[in-house]
Amino acid sequence: MKEISCKLLVVGAGPGGYVCAIRAGQLGLDTVIVEANRLGGACLNVGCIPSKALIHAAEEFDRTRRMAAGKSPLGISLSAPEIDLVKTVAWKDGIVGRLRSGVAALLKKGRVKIVVGAAKFRDGKTVAVETETGLQIVRAEAIVIATGSAPAALPALPFGGPVISSSQALALAKIPQKLVVVGGGYIGLELGTAFAKLGASVTVVEALARILPQYDAELTRPVAKRLAELGVRTLTNAKAKGLSAKGDALLVETREEKDVRLAADKVLVTVGRKPVTEGWGREELALDMDGPFIRIDDRCRTSMRDVYAIGDVTGEPMLAHRAMAQGEMVAEIVAGHKRSWDKRAIAAACFTDPEIVTVGLSPEEAARAGLAVKVGQFPFAANGRAMTKLGEEGFVRIVARADNNVVLGVQAVGCEVSELAAPFALALEMGARLEDVAGTIHAHPTQGEAFQEAALRALGRALHI
Ligand SMILES: Cc1cc2nc3c(=O)[nH]c(=O)nc-3n(C[C@H](O)[C@H](O)[C@H](O)COP(=O)(O)OP(=O)(O)OC[C@H]3O[C@@H](n4cnc5c(N)ncnc54)[C@H](O)[C@@H]3O)c2cc1C
Repeated sequence: MKEISCKLLVVGAGPGGYVCAIRAGQLGLDTVIVEANRLGGACLNVGCIPSKALIHAAEEFDRTRRMAAGKSPLGISLSAPEIDLVKTVAWKDGIVGRLRSGVAALLKKGRVKIVVGAAKFRDGKTVAVETETGLQIVRAEAIVIATGSAPAALPALPFGGPVISSSQALALAKIPQKLVVVGGGYIGLELGTAFAKLGASVTVVEALARILPQYDAELTRPVAKRLAELGVRTLTNAKAKGLSAKGDALLVETREEKDVRLAADKVLVTVGRKPVTEGWGREELALDMDGPFIRIDDRCRTSMRDVYAIGDVTGEPMLAHRAMAQGEMVAEIVAGHKRSWDKRAIAAACFTDPEIVTVGLSPEEAARAGLAVKVGQFPFAANGRAMTKLGEEGFVRIVARADNNVVLGVQAVGCEVSELAAPFALALEMGARLEDVAGTIHAHPTQGEAFQEAALRALGRALHI
């Protein structure tokens, strides 16, 4: 049994944990990070990065297929394209591998010690790690729990056989002929859209009244329209009951029909993610919980002294950039800096077709909060750059306080609008007013001009509409 002591121990090397360890290393803290699986966590290995690689490959394939079908208004014609999914997955794995090596190199640069194995708490200062070469005890002055989240299963549809999670969907060797996606949230729709573009016949089953229920109907309408164009069937108010006896179909109950049978060679269950709060000795600690999550304060402190928690294990929004921002902050707090969570907004991007991006409050949320607002909306149909990209669907919407024009939220749906997350978030973080956005010269021709025009419109003086 080997023992080491350090200033900071980070449990879990997802985006929260590895960013925390890198920043701690930069600050000269003697840091150890323990990872049971692969550096980069869900985000890098089975989440953000591989899903976007698959989505991009599917988009390219679909684009060329449409050209081959003589449907390109650009005047390009091609013969029918083919796709070799094994090569696509190998390309995606190559990107993931390069990024993982980058994380390892950054940790090394910060002199962070990496211990590979599953960590188990013995007490609030000590963790035992089952490594390939035996038990490693790590004692630390401060510990960060960054154990992340895992796909949630449905009791009636446990993972196994044809029932797969998002992780398995990203590593398939063959495109399923008939794919049923259970759960119409962002992960299910991103992957469902990609597989539809790759040629699968896709059905989405959603228990609530509409897909992407976390967004308002106006934002999701263009996505629903595109899904229909791709031939994706969506069943809303529908509950998955289980697999057929032969395992070749999903049985579903809708409002209208009790027994709907959806033939499927794969059933992708994307009904959310659950925090990883078991299996690492939580019972040895005295952590207050917040529902299924670890309760934290504005410095990511748990109820135990010098024990911090960050990322998905601490609650919504379960997003990689929130985990990273928390990780960076906690490293600085442990190094003695005065920091607390003072973020005004966390942007969320949904890589459907078209994409959706949201920051801050929607008009509905502002109304629920009792705020009087001004709203300006500008359609991409009036934006030159969007037209040149065949991306006229969608809009940018800006929400500002009625009394002083301070921007409270920005939402957009449209072609590649995830790239607008940065200026939107910046506007909120810097406390911009409508006049600041309207008065900033936005390069022409870009889709960002729609942001400026939305602000102008909220001020009653839009120029291009
Ligand atoms: C398909 C998919 C697409 C996604 N797309 C996006 C996106 O576009 N944008 C976005 O912001 N987010 C996206 N997410 C969510 C994002 O991946 C998570 O929010 C993010 O990974 C959370 O980071 P984390 O550091 O909290 O935890 P995780 O990434 O879950 O990492 C936790 C790590 O801890 C390790 N661990 C757990 N227990 C132990 C233990 N006892 N000992 C040692 N190690 C342990 C795990 O092995 C894991 O590597 C997506 C997720 C999925 C599944």
